[in-house]
Amino acid sequence: MNNTYYTISDIAEILNPISFKKENDSVIRKLVIDSRTVIDPDGSLFFALSGKRDGHGYLADAYHNGLRNFVISDASYLDQYPDANVLLVSDVLLSLQLLAKYNREQHHLKVIGITGSNGKTIVKEWLYQLLASEFNIIRSPKSFNSQIGVPLSVWEIDADHTLGIFEAGISKGEEMESLGDMIQPSIGILTNLGEAHAEGFSSQKEKLDEKLKLFKDAELFIYAPEYTLGMPKNDLPGQVKFSWSLKEQADLQILFIEPIDGRNYIRAKFKGAEIECLIPFSDKASVENGIICWATLLALGYTPEQADERLEKLTRVSMRLELKNGINQCSIIDDSYSADISSLAIALDFLNLQNQHPKRTLILSDIFETGKSNEVLYLEIAALLKQKEVNRLIGVGPNITASASLFNLETTFFDSTQAFVESFPALHFSNETILVKGARKFEFERISKLIAQKVHDTVMEVDLNALAGNLQFYRAKLQPGVKIMAMVKAFSYGSGSFEIANLLQYHKVDYLAVAYTDEGIALRKAGIKMPIMVMSPEPSAFDAIVRFKLEPEIYNLEILRSFISFIQEVNYPVHLKIDTGMHRLGFEEPDLTELLNTLAETDKVKVASVFSHLVGSEEGAHDEFTKYQVHRFTDMADIISKGLNYKFIRHISNTSAISRHPDAQLDMVRIGIGLYGFDAGLKANKGLQTVAVLKTTITQVKDIKPNETVGYGRRGLLPEGGTIATVKIGYADGYSRAFGNGVGRMLIKGKMVPTVGVICMDMCMLDVTGLDVKTGDEVVVFNSELTIATLAEQIGTIPYEILTNVSQRVKRVYFYE
Ligand SMILES: *Cc1c(COP(=O)(O)O)cnc(C)c1O
Repeated sequence: MNNTYYTISDIAEILNPISFKKENDSVIRKLVIDSRTVIDPDGSLFFALSGKRDGHGYLADAYHNGLRNFVISDASYLDQYPDANVLLVSDVLLSLQLLAKYNREQHHLKVIGITGSNGKTIVKEWLYQLLASEFNIIRSPKSFNSQIGVPLSVWEIDADHTLGIFEAGISKGEEMESLGDMIQPSIGILTNLGEAHAEGFSSQKEKLDEKLKLFKDAELFIYAPEYTLGMPKNDLPGQVKFSWSLKEQADLQILFIEPIDGRNYIRAKFKGAEIECLIPFSDKASVENGIICWATLLALGYTPEQADERLEKLTRVSMRLELKNGINQCSIIDDSYSADISSLAIALDFLNLQNQHPKRTLILSDIFETGKSNEVLYLEIAALLKQKEVNRLIGVGPNITASASLFNLETTFFDSTQAFVESFPALHFSNETILVKGARKFEFERISKLIAQKVHDTVMEVDLNALAGNLQFYRAKLQPGVKIMAMVKAFSYGSGSFEIANLLQYHKVDYLAVAYTDEGIALRKAGIKMPIMVMSPEPSAFDAIVRFKLEPEIYNLEILRSFISFIQEVNYPVHLKIDTGMHRLGFEEPDLTELLNTLAETDKVKVASVFSHLVGSEEGAHDEFTKYQVHRFTDMADIISKGLNYKFIRHISNTSAISRHPDAQLDMVRIGIGLYGFDAGLKANKGLQTVAVLKTTITQVKDIKPNETVGYGRRGLLPEGGTIATVKIGYADGYSRAFGNGVGRMLIKGKMVPTVGVICMDMCMLDVTGLDVKTGDEVVVFNSELTIATLAEQIGTIPYEILTNVSQRVKRVYFYE
């Protein structure tokens, strides 16, 4: 093996720490920042980064997971782990970056650096596909392009690699220099310059200047003049410059783009001749990314014929894991597109956070990792499977089959995907969570097809990363120590049940809350262990509440008394609801004496929390009333506190209160709709990510004459005639009849189109006059562009109702990356 390696002493020499506690001379192969995802604990160095949460808080967890090498900046942790090597530095992030830079400087390979507002990851992955036959390529995993992602990527360069492809992303000024120091690209690609992240810069020019810093020492620079704001060519970076353009003269000047059968045929002028290529995608973004790759191949000296031949074979880049329902009550995590050890670790992490089935199964193909023997590679994987509590492995491919003896769990091996498919009935998949992970050439989509339920043409896609991002957004607004209760009532506002709860449990939310006992039971049956509050605990369900360890909300004396007379336990946790102005449920001030007397007479229940609900936290007009409610609440909580001789949690803030009333956080907040991507208390929802996207498809396209009508009651008219598309969503799916007759709009290929006629039970019709559409085309009902807020406005309701109305008949598919 030809790998560069560093001992902890080498690293200490590079970092020059304030203090170095050395216990042994470990060889460091991996740098890690997440104590949960550890592949190789002995060879990993953990960086206690302080971001929104302090990484030092995870040292104990990291130690528990077997890590024995730490970089820290808080001296009080220096001697806490007797058998660990510890480097104390002044800035943990800078040290991580310094190490990456050092590693970069040890290797003299060609490096492509990519930046721009969009398309970085796709261009990187496509260049990898296009160039993998000549080069041994090291590239950023996923979209690791930040101040943290870049050093983790650059660290992985070793002596075997002949080409590096790294992306760099910035969100504000002064960030590119450090990225450039680490990547040191010899070839630079600016994908484009959009409005994204513009808030961190005072102008487009400032943003462009910052991006171009990445390329200050590049030999070759590839760009489009439309994205360089008219900057003179001489001011652009790169000893050699290569331009492409749709608008003006350029080294690769695009003449025309013609869509054919879901692909795009492109002609261009290059070195005075006309050349052509075929990009095997239909959407606009893919065409631009394809042209950037085309320009890169030509700039690198490939002939137009070679370039065309390779571009035609590009395949879609999917870095998202898909969680969906499978046969025989299985859950399927589909990752049938890539197989390398770092993406395997991420996928296993996601598998591990699923609790809904007792059994976790992995179907894995041979993995291709350069510079590692099979034995080393599969031993690493075996350790990973143990750590992530996988119960069953089905290996597909000659290499993994030859390594069978390294795995210590239930295993089955097949030489090929075909052999798996032939034995499929004998594998008896049932009531388990199955991760399907295979290198592209194993065509694991054949396996997914066998075990996953077919997803119908109307689906709601739920982005779990966006949900986790929204949680983080609110968490960052909390004062230290404030707990979080996540509202997962009504099927998590329509987004899902255990799929969402698993994620919230993984992200260490303190409490979940549901409306009804049944919802709580479903979560318990899916393996959710964290505390769950039930807001409407009907007495007929007390038995189930206790059996499933659910915690009831107590909102009046009657329910308190019947609960006390029912239960046998001691100190059973309950939550007291106080009415401070909603006038729905809850104790009022005159009830408190009797409440306290009743509580004093029993040791069967213990008050875990006392809470109230705000009626208008999102609206400025109600701020006075919000203050009054908070005040009334704390007064009443004080009375309860005096009456009980123990502490309890006090909470009143819902989503908009967190964003608008920071002084109402008390001991805990209850986040609802904000998690799912909407907050009426924020200006234009700023800072939140869209979680749910509802999509359907076109079933039929018809031409309509001027005097013809469309749909029931002859309500739909196109006065001048035109074209309609029938789509597979109706009021039974949750698309309200109120959207009929042009009130509602949907998005087809980026164009807004209105409804025609009334909304039917399972279908509705859209006016697509003048658009090039056909059966099977995708139609967006809501997404980040056409938001639930817009839909709510169209029919005079609130986003909550739009989300929760999407019926259970619409399949949910979860994405995670
Ligand atoms: C639904 C609910 C919430 C969450 O409200 P959002 O506005 O969605 O954040 C909080 N508290 C109670 C009691 C609720 O019923």
